[in-house]
Amino acid sequence: MDKYNVAIIGAGPGGYVAAIRAGQLGLKTVVIEREAPGGICLNWGCIPTKALLRNAEVLSLFKRGKEFGFTFDNFKADYAVAQARSRKVVERLVKGVEFLLKKNKVDYVQGTARLASPKRIELAPSGQTIEADNVIIATGARPRSIPGLDPDGKNVITYREAVALTEVPESVVIIGAGAIGVEFAYLWHTYGSKVTLVEALPRLVPTEDEEISAELERSFKKQGLAFLTGAKVEGVNWANGVARVTVAAADGKREIEGRKVLVAVGVRPNSEGLGLETLGVRMERGAVKVDARMQTSVPGVYAIGDVTGEVLLAHVASAQGVVAAEAIAGRQPPRLSYVDMPRATYCQPQVASLGLTEAQAREKGHEVKVGRFPFRAIGKAIALGDTDGQVKIVADAKTGEVLGAHMIGPEVTELLGELSLAKLLESTPLELGWAVHPHPTLSEALREAALDVNKEAIHT
Ligand code: NAD
Repeated sequence: MDKYNVAIIGAGPGGYVAAIRAGQLGLKTVVIEREAPGGICLNWGCIPTKALLRNAEVLSLFKRGKEFGFTFDNFKADYAVAQARSRKVVERLVKGVEFLLKKNKVDYVQGTARLASPKRIELAPSGQTIEADNVIIATGARPRSIPGLDPDGKNVITYREAVALTEVPESVVIIGAGAIGVEFAYLWHTYGSKVTLVEALPRLVPTEDEEISAELERSFKKQGLAFLTGAKVEGVNWANGVARVTVAAADGKREIEGRKVLVAVGVRPNSEGLGLETLGVRMERGAVKVDARMQTSVPGVYAIGDVTGEVLLAHVASAQGVVAAEAIAGRQPPRLSYVDMPRATYCQPQVASLGLTEAQAREKGHEVKVGRFPFRAIGKAIALGDTDGQVKIVADAKTGEVLGAHMIGPEVTELLGELSLAKLLESTPLELGWAVHPHPTLSEALREAALDVNKEAIHT
């Protein structure tokens, strides 16, 4: 039997990062994975979609060729090449993760793990047993489905099959306008698919600030991308390979057709089959409950990432992984503030946010001051020819604390790091405004929005 200080179940961005950190801290570490290193994010989620979306962005620019003085004959956009490129990107990064695990002396074991006790893991199908002083559950989550619309992997699909498609569906109904829904809607629409996006809540990206949703809706309309909000899916009928999805919206019922249906209505934790119930690990609606050190109700058993049901994003899983590894090594990692985790969505225009929306800040009783700045007044955005969108900063009127930041526009996801640091250092809009931002860059919109909190923006 192999003995370790830490055994990690799942090698996604939570598990493999926890493993590397544990290795760095001198802990004898093993990571167990049933599929491939890098997990969903690297193999079927964040990374391949970003490669595909890059293709869509380039294609969007080609479509505006005239504006830039480019003309083409027989222009062709080959989606199969885009998809093949995305797989190469994945391959390269998977190799990178394998290298990093080795470099940090982390053992990697292929198999499906089950906890026989808090310190003993049994693997299938090998039957191998691993003993560890501490276990970190990092098993992620899987797509939720809607009753009557169970994915069959061919016609009714999830992101998993969507990423693997080598042809753009001629027409598609996308259910759910969260991150996955809007990213695939932009991608496939740009490649010529007839896309209809259906969202149950009253607006696209409904967890974002209302102004951001409104701006995205305006931009999608301008792009000719069809969407229905406040629309409930009632059922689907298939005839001659075409789905007729019945949707009930405020203005009545209607049928939407698509050759494929992409279900993107959220995910649920992969917490079953691990033996957690038998060990008495506390769970809530399938999510494993953890404390600030990522320890579950059973000492020595930790959990990180989507399986904890906190903010379901790769970088949050990684941050939790570092916390868990450090806690196991006897360090005092800082407490994570989930509301301040950066959130990034990569449709065009991109959406990026952190902290409370304006409505949430008011609901929490804050007296709020808001600063805004549009990209159409930013030189770099005009030079890029990409002027849709704005930066909005929500601050506490009394203390000046930045409560939230909400951005839509070109490359706004790249501006989130600065905000994350600003939150960590408890910077105020005044300080964000005093920080000299390079000119010409898109980051000037952030500075101007911060200055606008006190109505001191320069280029308004
Ligand atoms: P999500 O929770 O982001 O969005 C699901 C959307 O579906 C919500 O807006 C919800 O209101 C809607 N919905 C739910 N039931 C519905 C119904 N019956 N009919 C119509 N709409 C319905 O989930 P997702 O987009 O499936 O993504 C899954 C997870 O992956 C999320 O946690 C997400 O944050 C993450 N993810 C992140 C990124 C990114 O950060 N760029 C990209 C993709 C996925």
